[in-house]
Amino acid sequence: MPIYEYHCQNCNRIFELLCKVGEDESTIVCPECGAHKVKRVMSRFAAHGVQGGSKSCGPSCSGTCSSCGM
Ligand SMILES: [Zn+2]
Repeated sequence: MPIYEYHCQNCNRIFELLCKVGEDESTIVCPECGAHKVKRVMSRFAAHGVQGGSKSCGPSCSGTCSSCGM
């Protein structure tokens, strides 16, 4: 199960949560202050190539070249 990091926009705390499949992110609250104003931040696991293939490494790249790490 992936672990995501969330940022509470209320108290600025970063916390980690195990992401359950199908979990509604709107139900996530900050463990520190209980605010609903949390935003997922990119964790170190989700660095490359998992964002729908719209990213490319350069103007001549279609998004699937070896430099993209695909
Ligand atoms: Zn908070």
